[in-house]
Amino acid sequence: MDNATRALYEQVILDHNRNPQNFREIPDADRKVEGYNPLCGDQFTVYVKMDGDRIADIAFQGSGCAVSKSSASIMTTVIKGKTRQDAEEIFKKFHRLVTAPPGTPYDEKELGKLSVFSGVREYPIRIKCATLAWHALMAALENQGERVSTE
Ligand code: ZN
Repeated sequence: MDNATRALYEQVILDHNRNPQNFREIPDADRKVEGYNPLCGDQFTVYVKMDGDRIADIAFQGSGCAVSKSSASIMTTVIKGKTRQDAEEIFKKFHRLVTAPPGTPYDEKELGKLSVFSGVREYPIRIKCATLAWHALMAALENQGERVSTE
């Protein structure tokens, strides 16, 4: 990662950690899944309100490290208004991005603001932090229980 990318990665994560988006409860959520990453202690609840097949509203609450919180925050901004299928596609791309070996090229245009998480590749311990909220979202969309754990 060059210095400019590293600086951007740190800035985006700090900004979202300080000022997370959609950091609230959805009292009438259709689905609600709690995600837990025992390795780091990250614990978030993801709320989803569906409108047919579309994710009409998405929010999260909880606490965790800056990477997990900023990833959850950015996820909500990217996913809101998308269909379930789109959300699954975006998750696959995001997952490929963060689990690829450092230096693997990626499509910045396609990934948009998620590309900043390519920085996570250099800190493998943080991959579970970055994907935690996403795993909770996938479980919510598939209606698979109310709790997911990375372990
Ligand atoms: Zn963490």
